[in-house]
Amino acid sequence: MGRKQEWSLLPDNQPLIIAGPCSAESENQVIETAKRLKEDHRVNVYRAGVWKPRTRPGSFEGHGSIALEWLKSVKSEVGLPVTIEVANVKHVYESLKAGIDILWIGARTTANPFAVQEIADALKGVDVPVMVKNPVNPDVALWMGAIERLQKSGISNIGAIHRGVSQFKESTYRNKPEWQMAIRLRENMPDIPLINDPSHITGNRELVYSIAQTALDLNFDGLMIETHPDPDNAWSDAAQQVTPQQLKLILDRLIIRKEVAPEEVAKNIDELRESINYIDDQILELLKYRMNVSEDIALFKQANNLTIFQEDRWNELLRKNKVKGSELGMKATFISKIYHAIHQESIDRQSKIINNEIKV
Ligand code: PEP
Ligand code: MN
Repeated sequence: MGRKQEWSLLPDNQPLIIAGPCSAESENQVIETAKRLKEDHRVNVYRAGVWKPRTRPGSFEGHGSIALEWLKSVKSEVGLPVTIEVANVKHVYESLKAGIDILWIGARTTANPFAVQEIADALKGVDVPVMVKNPVNPDVALWMGAIERLQKSGISNIGAIHRGVSQFKESTYRNKPEWQMAIRLRENMPDIPLINDPSHITGNRELVYSIAQTALDLNFDGLMIETHPDPDNAWSDAAQQVTPQQLKLILDRLIIRKEVAPEEVAKNIDELRESINYIDDQILELLKYRMNVSEDIALFKQANNLTIFQEDRWNELLRKNKVKGSELGMKATFISKIYHAIHQESIDRQSKIINNEIKV
Protein backbone atom coordinates (compact mmCIF):
# COMPACT_ATOMS: atom_id res chain seq x y z
CA MET A 1 0.00 0.00 0.00
CA GLY A 2 1.12 3.55 -0.59
CA ARG A 3 2.36 3.74 -4.15
CA LYS A 4 5.35 5.93 -4.76
CA GLN A 5 3.13 8.16 -6.84
CA GLU A 6 1.74 11.13 -4.94
CA TRP A 7 -1.97 10.49 -5.14
CA SER A 8 -3.32 12.85 -2.56
CA LEU A 9 -6.44 10.76 -2.07
CA LEU A 10 -4.58 7.60 -1.04
CA PRO A 11 -4.84 7.22 2.74
CA ASP A 12 -1.70 6.25 4.65
CA ASN A 13 -1.48 2.52 5.36
CA GLN A 14 -5.18 2.00 4.72
CA PRO A 15 -6.89 0.91 1.52
CA LEU A 16 -8.68 3.63 -0.42
CA ILE A 17 -12.39 2.80 -0.13
CA ILE A 18 -14.70 3.88 -2.92
CA ALA A 19 -18.37 3.07 -2.32
CA GLY A 20 -21.76 4.03 -3.68
CA PRO A 21 -24.49 2.71 -5.93
CA CYS A 22 -23.98 1.19 -9.36
CA SER A 23 -26.33 3.86 -10.78
CA ALA A 24 -27.56 7.23 -9.60
CA GLU A 25 -31.31 6.47 -9.52
CA SER A 26 -32.82 9.56 -7.86
CA GLU A 27 -31.67 12.61 -5.96
CA ASN A 28 -32.89 11.08 -2.72
CA GLN A 29 -31.17 7.73 -3.33
CA VAL A 30 -27.87 9.44 -4.21
CA ILE A 31 -27.82 11.78 -1.23
CA GLU A 32 -29.22 9.43 1.40
CA THR A 33 -26.73 6.70 0.42
CA ALA A 34 -23.89 9.21 0.58
CA LYS A 35 -24.94 10.37 4.05
CA ARG A 36 -24.95 6.83 5.34
CA LEU A 37 -21.57 6.10 3.80
CA LYS A 38 -20.10 9.30 5.19
CA GLU A 39 -20.88 7.99 8.70
CA ASP A 40 -18.30 5.26 8.11
CA HIS A 41 -15.02 7.12 8.25
CA ARG A 42 -13.25 4.48 6.17
CA VAL A 43 -15.16 5.49 3.01
CA ASN A 44 -13.00 7.98 1.10
CA VAL A 45 -14.79 8.47 -2.21
CA TYR A 46 -18.41 8.22 -3.39
CA ARG A 47 -19.19 6.49 -6.69
CA ALA A 48 -22.38 6.48 -8.78
CA GLY A 49 -23.00 5.75 -12.45
CA VAL A 50 -24.59 8.62 -14.38
CA TRP A 51 -24.15 7.18 -17.88
CA LYS A 52 -24.44 3.40 -17.74
CA PRO A 53 -22.89 1.19 -20.42
CA ARG A 54 -25.36 -1.67 -20.64
CA THR A 55 -24.30 -4.79 -22.48
CA ARG A 56 -27.72 -5.09 -24.16
CA PRO A 57 -30.21 -2.32 -24.89
CA GLY A 58 -33.46 -1.99 -23.02
CA SER A 59 -32.23 -1.70 -19.45
CA PHE A 60 -31.66 1.50 -17.46
CA GLU A 61 -28.92 3.53 -19.14
CA GLY A 62 -28.50 6.17 -16.43
CA HIS A 63 -30.17 9.53 -15.88
CA GLY A 64 -27.35 11.41 -17.62
CA SER A 65 -26.53 15.07 -16.99
CA ILE A 66 -29.29 15.76 -14.46
CA ALA A 67 -27.70 13.27 -12.05
CA LEU A 68 -24.53 15.39 -12.02
CA GLU A 69 -26.48 17.92 -9.96
CA TRP A 70 -27.14 15.26 -7.31
CA LEU A 71 -23.43 14.42 -7.16
CA LYS A 72 -22.63 18.10 -6.76
CA SER A 73 -24.82 18.00 -3.64
CA VAL A 74 -22.94 14.96 -2.35
CA LYS A 75 -19.77 17.04 -2.58
CA SER A 76 -21.16 20.20 -1.05
CA GLU A 77 -23.73 18.88 1.45
CA VAL A 78 -22.30 15.52 2.47
CA GLY A 79 -18.63 16.33 1.97
CA LEU A 80 -17.43 13.25 0.09
CA PRO A 81 -15.33 13.47 -3.10
CA VAL A 82 -17.20 11.95 -6.04
CA THR A 83 -16.26 9.74 -8.97
CA ILE A 84 -18.21 8.70 -12.06
CA GLU A 85 -17.65 6.78 -15.29
CA VAL A 86 -16.99 8.70 -18.50
CA ALA A 87 -17.14 7.02 -21.89
CA ASN A 88 -16.88 9.89 -24.35
CA VAL A 89 -15.87 13.52 -24.76
CA LYS A 90 -19.31 14.87 -23.85
CA HIS A 91 -19.21 12.98 -20.56
CA VAL A 92 -15.76 14.41 -19.85
CA TYR A 93 -16.79 18.03 -20.46
CA GLU A 94 -19.97 17.73 -18.43
CA SER A 95 -18.20 16.00 -15.55
CA LEU A 96 -15.46 18.63 -15.42
CA LYS A 97 -18.05 21.39 -15.53
CA ALA A 98 -19.86 19.76 -12.61
CA GLY A 99 -16.62 19.56 -10.60
CA ILE A 100 -16.50 15.74 -10.40
CA ASP A 101 -13.33 14.93 -8.43
CA ILE A 102 -12.21 11.72 -10.13
CA LEU A 103 -13.23 10.22 -13.47
CA TRP A 104 -13.08 6.57 -14.38
CA ILE A 105 -13.00 4.80 -17.71
CA GLY A 106 -15.20 1.69 -17.80
CA ALA A 107 -14.16 -1.77 -18.92
CA ARG A 108 -15.96 -1.61 -22.26
CA THR A 109 -14.36 1.74 -23.08
CA THR A 110 -10.83 0.67 -22.11
CA ALA A 111 -11.14 -2.06 -24.74
CA ASN A 112 -11.41 0.63 -27.46
CA PRO A 113 -8.20 2.64 -28.07
CA PHE A 114 -10.01 5.24 -30.24
CA ALA A 115 -12.45 6.03 -27.44
CA VAL A 116 -9.66 6.19 -24.85
CA GLN A 117 -7.59 8.48 -27.08
CA GLU A 118 -10.52 10.86 -27.51
CA ILE A 119 -10.98 11.01 -23.75
CA ALA A 120 -7.25 11.51 -23.23
CA ASP A 121 -7.24 14.36 -25.80
CA ALA A 122 -10.20 16.02 -24.08
CA LEU A 123 -8.28 15.90 -20.80
CA LYS A 124 -5.13 17.63 -22.08
CA GLY A 125 -4.20 20.41 -19.68
CA VAL A 126 -6.77 19.34 -17.06
CA ASP A 127 -5.02 17.42 -14.36
CA VAL A 128 -8.01 15.57 -12.91
CA PRO A 129 -7.38 12.10 -11.41
CA VAL A 130 -8.55 9.27 -13.67
CA MET A 131 -9.01 5.58 -12.91
CA VAL A 132 -8.89 3.00 -15.67
CA LYS A 133 -10.79 -0.26 -15.39
CA ASN A 134 -9.21 -3.29 -17.05
CA PRO A 135 -10.72 -4.07 -20.48
CA VAL A 136 -13.44 -6.72 -20.68
CA ASN A 137 -10.96 -9.05 -22.38
CA PRO A 138 -7.85 -10.44 -20.64
CA ASP A 139 -5.37 -8.12 -22.39
CA VAL A 140 -3.00 -6.38 -20.00
CA ALA A 141 -1.34 -4.47 -22.84
CA LEU A 142 -4.67 -2.83 -23.71
CA TRP A 143 -5.09 -1.82 -20.07
CA MET A 144 -1.57 -0.39 -19.95
CA GLY A 145 -2.12 1.28 -23.31
CA ALA A 146 -5.11 3.21 -21.94
CA ILE A 147 -3.04 4.34 -18.95
CA GLU A 148 -0.21 5.43 -21.27
CA ARG A 149 -2.61 7.47 -23.42
CA LEU A 150 -3.67 9.39 -20.30
CA GLN A 151 -0.08 9.81 -19.15
CA LYS A 152 0.78 11.28 -22.55
CA SER A 153 -2.00 13.81 -22.04
CA GLY A 154 -0.30 14.95 -18.85
CA ILE A 155 -2.61 13.29 -16.32
CA SER A 156 -0.46 12.68 -13.27
CA ASN A 157 -2.87 10.93 -10.92
CA ILE A 158 -3.93 7.69 -12.55
CA GLY A 159 -5.31 4.61 -10.82
CA ALA A 160 -6.10 1.17 -12.23
CA ILE A 161 -9.24 -0.75 -11.32
CA HIS A 162 -9.18 -4.52 -11.58
CA ARG A 163 -12.75 -5.78 -12.29
CA GLY A 164 -12.17 -9.17 -13.93
CA VAL A 165 -12.89 -10.24 -17.50
CA SER A 166 -15.90 -11.54 -19.42
CA GLN A 167 -16.29 -15.25 -19.90
CA PHE A 168 -18.46 -17.36 -22.13
CA LYS A 169 -19.23 -20.16 -19.69
CA GLU A 170 -21.37 -19.88 -16.55
CA SER A 171 -19.18 -19.78 -13.47
CA THR A 172 -19.14 -18.81 -9.80
CA TYR A 173 -18.12 -15.30 -10.73
CA ARG A 174 -19.77 -12.82 -13.07
CA ASN A 175 -16.33 -11.88 -14.37
CA LYS A 176 -13.27 -14.10 -14.07
CA PRO A 177 -10.82 -12.42 -11.68
CA GLU A 178 -7.65 -13.21 -13.71
CA TRP A 179 -5.44 -12.03 -10.83
CA GLN A 180 -2.43 -12.52 -13.08
CA MET A 181 -3.58 -9.53 -15.12
CA ALA A 182 -3.41 -7.27 -12.08
CA ILE A 183 -0.05 -8.73 -11.06
CA ARG A 184 1.32 -8.05 -14.56
CA LEU A 185 0.09 -4.47 -14.41
CA ARG A 186 1.82 -4.01 -11.06
CA GLU A 187 5.05 -5.52 -12.45
CA ASN A 188 5.03 -3.13 -15.39
CA MET A 189 3.59 -0.04 -13.74
CA PRO A 190 4.64 -0.23 -10.09
CA ASP A 191 3.66 3.37 -9.33
CA ILE A 192 0.04 3.10 -10.43
CA PRO A 193 -2.33 2.54 -7.48
CA LEU A 194 -4.30 -0.66 -7.99
CA ILE A 195 -7.91 -0.81 -6.85
CA ASN A 196 -10.00 -3.95 -6.80
CA ASP A 197 -13.69 -4.02 -7.75
CA PRO A 198 -15.05 -7.16 -6.06
CA SER A 199 -18.64 -6.20 -6.95
CA HIS A 200 -18.22 -6.59 -10.72
CA ILE A 201 -15.93 -9.61 -10.35
CA THR A 202 -18.37 -11.57 -8.23
CA GLY A 203 -21.76 -10.31 -9.40
CA ASN A 204 -22.90 -11.68 -6.02
CA ARG A 205 -22.88 -9.81 -2.72
CA GLU A 206 -22.14 -12.98 -0.73
CA LEU A 207 -18.75 -13.29 -2.42
CA VAL A 208 -17.64 -9.65 -2.24
CA TYR A 209 -15.82 -10.03 1.08
CA SER A 210 -13.64 -12.96 0.01
CA ILE A 211 -12.52 -11.30 -3.24
CA ALA A 212 -11.83 -8.06 -1.38
CA GLN A 213 -9.68 -9.95 1.13
CA THR A 214 -7.77 -11.69 -1.66
CA ALA A 215 -7.10 -8.28 -3.21
CA LEU A 216 -5.74 -6.91 0.06
CA ASP A 217 -3.63 -10.06 0.48
CA LEU A 218 -2.13 -9.26 -2.93
CA ASN A 219 -1.31 -5.75 -1.71
CA PHE A 220 -3.92 -3.82 -3.67
CA ASP A 221 -4.20 -0.13 -2.73
CA GLY A 222 -7.97 0.14 -2.58
CA LEU A 223 -11.43 -1.30 -3.13
CA MET A 224 -14.46 -0.09 -5.07
CA ILE A 225 -17.60 -1.70 -3.62
CA GLU A 226 -21.08 -1.03 -4.99
CA THR A 227 -23.36 0.01 -2.15
CA HIS A 228 -27.09 0.66 -2.34
CA PRO A 229 -29.72 1.33 0.37
CA ASP A 230 -32.03 -1.35 -1.06
CA PRO A 231 -29.87 -3.59 -3.27
CA ASP A 232 -32.60 -6.05 -4.28
CA ASN A 233 -34.52 -3.21 -5.91
CA ALA A 234 -31.53 -1.53 -7.55
CA TRP A 235 -32.05 -0.45 -11.16
CA SER A 236 -28.78 -2.10 -12.20
CA ASP A 237 -26.50 -4.79 -10.77
CA ALA A 238 -28.95 -5.71 -8.00
CA ALA A 239 -27.39 -9.05 -7.04
CA GLN A 240 -23.96 -7.66 -6.28
CA GLN A 241 -24.70 -4.51 -4.30
CA VAL A 242 -24.46 -4.40 -0.52
CA THR A 243 -26.16 -2.05 1.95
CA PRO A 244 -24.07 0.56 3.81
CA GLN A 245 -24.48 -1.63 6.92
CA GLN A 246 -23.18 -4.71 5.05
CA LEU A 247 -20.28 -2.63 3.73
CA LYS A 248 -19.41 -1.72 7.30
CA LEU A 249 -19.37 -5.41 8.29
CA ILE A 250 -17.20 -6.26 5.27
CA LEU A 251 -14.72 -3.50 6.17
CA ASP A 252 -14.71 -4.62 9.83
CA ARG A 253 -13.82 -8.17 8.80
CA LEU A 254 -11.11 -7.32 6.29
CA ILE A 255 -7.57 -7.92 7.47
CA ILE A 256 -5.11 -5.31 6.28
CA ARG A 257 -1.64 -6.78 5.98
CA LYS A 258 1.73 -5.07 5.82
CA GLU A 259 4.00 -5.32 2.81
CA VAL A 260 7.26 -5.37 4.73
CA ALA A 261 7.99 -7.46 7.82
CA PRO A 262 8.83 -5.51 11.00
CA GLU A 263 12.57 -5.41 11.66
CA GLU A 264 12.54 -7.75 14.67
CA VAL A 265 11.10 -10.66 12.64
CA ALA A 266 12.59 -9.79 9.23
CA LYS A 267 15.44 -12.30 9.78
CA ASN A 268 12.99 -15.24 9.83
CA ILE A 269 11.52 -14.44 6.45
CA ASP A 270 14.98 -13.71 5.03
CA GLU A 271 16.10 -17.23 5.96
CA LEU A 272 13.04 -18.79 4.38
CA ARG A 273 13.63 -16.73 1.24
CA GLU A 274 17.19 -17.97 1.04
CA SER A 275 15.86 -21.52 1.04
CA ILE A 276 13.47 -20.58 -1.77
CA ASN A 277 16.34 -19.07 -3.78
CA TYR A 278 18.40 -22.23 -3.31
CA ILE A 279 15.51 -24.44 -4.41
CA ASP A 280 14.85 -22.22 -7.44
CA ASP A 281 18.50 -22.61 -8.49
CA GLN A 282 18.10 -26.36 -8.34
CA ILE A 283 14.84 -26.28 -10.30
CA LEU A 284 16.57 -24.25 -13.03
CA GLU A 285 19.63 -26.55 -13.15
CA LEU A 286 17.34 -29.56 -13.46
CA LEU A 287 15.26 -27.89 -16.14
CA LYS A 288 18.39 -27.16 -18.13
CA TYR A 289 19.47 -30.79 -17.69
CA ARG A 290 16.05 -31.93 -18.89
CA MET A 291 16.32 -29.66 -21.97
CA ASN A 292 19.72 -31.18 -22.81
CA VAL A 293 18.21 -34.67 -22.77
CA SER A 294 15.33 -33.45 -24.90
CA GLU A 295 17.88 -32.15 -27.42
CA ASP A 296 19.53 -35.58 -27.58
CA ILE A 297 16.10 -37.03 -28.27
CA ALA A 298 15.70 -34.52 -31.11
CA LEU A 299 18.89 -35.85 -32.72
CA PHE A 300 17.58 -39.39 -32.35
CA LYS A 301 14.26 -38.40 -33.95
CA GLN A 302 16.11 -36.68 -36.78
CA ALA A 303 18.33 -39.70 -37.44
CA ASN A 304 15.34 -42.04 -37.46
CA ASN A 305 12.90 -39.69 -39.18
CA LEU A 306 10.41 -39.69 -36.29
CA THR A 307 7.76 -37.08 -35.52
CA ILE A 308 8.49 -34.64 -32.72
CA PHE A 309 5.10 -34.98 -31.08
CA GLN A 310 4.14 -38.44 -29.97
CA GLU A 311 0.72 -38.40 -28.45
CA ASP A 312 0.87 -41.61 -26.40
CA ARG A 313 4.18 -40.66 -24.81
CA TRP A 314 2.92 -37.17 -23.97
CA ASN A 315 -0.38 -38.38 -22.49
CA GLU A 316 1.43 -40.96 -20.38
CA LEU A 317 3.99 -38.43 -19.12
CA LEU A 318 1.29 -35.93 -18.19
CA ARG A 319 -0.84 -38.56 -16.46
CA LYS A 320 2.10 -39.96 -14.50
CA ASN A 321 3.23 -36.54 -13.33
CA LYS A 322 -0.26 -35.48 -12.31
CA VAL A 323 -0.59 -38.64 -10.19
CA LYS A 324 2.81 -38.08 -8.61
CA GLY A 325 2.02 -34.39 -8.09
CA SER A 326 -1.24 -35.16 -6.33
CA GLU A 327 0.51 -37.74 -4.10
CA LEU A 328 2.76 -34.84 -3.12
CA GLY A 329 -0.26 -32.62 -2.39
CA MET A 330 -0.23 -30.48 -5.56
CA LYS A 331 -3.24 -29.76 -7.77
CA ALA A 332 -3.46 -31.56 -11.12
CA THR A 333 -4.21 -28.24 -12.85
CA PHE A 334 -0.96 -26.78 -11.50
CA ILE A 335 1.12 -29.77 -12.66
CA SER A 336 -0.63 -29.63 -16.01
CA LYS A 337 0.25 -25.95 -16.50
CA ILE A 338 3.91 -26.54 -15.66
CA TYR A 339 4.22 -29.55 -17.96
CA HIS A 340 2.42 -27.90 -20.83
CA ALA A 341 4.94 -25.03 -20.62
CA ILE A 342 7.94 -27.38 -20.41
CA HIS A 343 6.63 -29.56 -23.22
CA GLN A 344 6.00 -26.58 -25.49
CA GLU A 345 9.58 -25.37 -24.97
CA SER A 346 10.89 -28.90 -25.70
CA ILE A 347 8.84 -29.06 -28.90
CA ASP A 348 10.14 -25.64 -30.02
CA ARG A 349 13.75 -26.65 -29.43
CA GLN A 350 13.35 -30.08 -31.02
CA SER A 351 11.70 -28.52 -34.02
CA LYS A 352 14.67 -26.17 -34.56
CA ILE A 353 17.15 -29.03 -34.19
CA ILE A 354 15.32 -31.47 -36.42
CA ASN A 355 15.11 -28.81 -39.16
CA ASN A 356 18.77 -27.88 -38.76
CA GLU A 357 17.96 -24.33 -37.65
CA ILE A 358 20.25 -24.73 -34.63
CA LYS A 359 23.11 -27.08 -33.90
CA VAL A 360 23.65 -28.80 -30.57
C1 PEP B 1 -19.68 0.04 -13.02
O1 PEP B 1 -18.70 0.28 -12.30
O2 PEP B 1 -20.85 0.22 -12.67
C2 PEP B 1 -19.43 -0.55 -14.36
C3 PEP B 1 -20.26 -0.39 -15.37
O3 PEP B 1 -18.33 -1.27 -14.37
P1 PEP B 1 -17.51 -2.02 -15.56
O4 PEP B 1 -17.03 -0.96 -16.49
O5 PEP B 1 -16.41 -2.66 -14.76
O6 PEP B 1 -18.43 -3.04 -16.17
MN1 MN C 1 -22.33 -1.78 -11.74
